[in-house]
Amino acid sequence: MDGMNAILQPILRTDVSGMPIEWIYYQTAVKLYYTDQVAYTCGTRLLTVHGGTNAKTGTQSTLDIASIVATRGCNKKLHENLVPGLNNPTLFRRDGHLCMYCGESFDYKDLSRDHIIPVVQGGKDIWTNVVASCKRCNNIKGGRTPEQANMHLIAVPFQPTYAEYIYLKGKHILGDQMAFLSAHFPRNSPLLDRMAKS
Ligand SMILES: [Zn+2]
Repeated sequence: MDGMNAILQPILRTDVSGMPIEWIYYQTAVKLYYTDQVAYTCGTRLLTVHGGTNAKTGTQSTLDIASIVATRGCNKKLHENLVPGLNNPTLFRRDGHLCMYCGESFDYKDLSRDHIIPVVQGGKDIWTNVVASCKRCNNIKGGRTPEQANMHLIAVPFQPTYAEYIYLKGKHILGDQMAFLSAHFPRNSPLLDRMAKS
């Protein structure tokens, strides 16, 4: 990969144990290299960055930037304690851009966040109480629970683990990054099924 694509390609940053932390761009990766925070890299070489010229030898330093960069330190706490922030883009990706009631596929703009137990009935705004819903189904359901509205969910809503969340937040994920991320998913992750199908 070279040129513009490589510059815009998000890089997966992990901790030293390989736990996914975040997506970064190459500028941040370069900074991590030069501040000696990179423990090792894996995946494919995305691009080569040219540095300064050595005054004595006249050779220019180069730095290969890989698609996965592991940095020093361990972020075990991040993975154990963090409830990933709930937002519509990530929620709709969790549900595969399907309405969880009628099962049809929709664009982002035609989906809404449905509270399974409605807020007016004490339902919370948490991962396990929200699903992607088309506007029509959301209107039909109104302020009722699925039972009250005689509607059925096509999948059980789940709170993503941190690795799943990083996957859901990813844009244009490369094959090697995907393999790396999915290795950190729980064995029963519904996202693994979907990856296998796509
Ligand atoms: Zn629907």
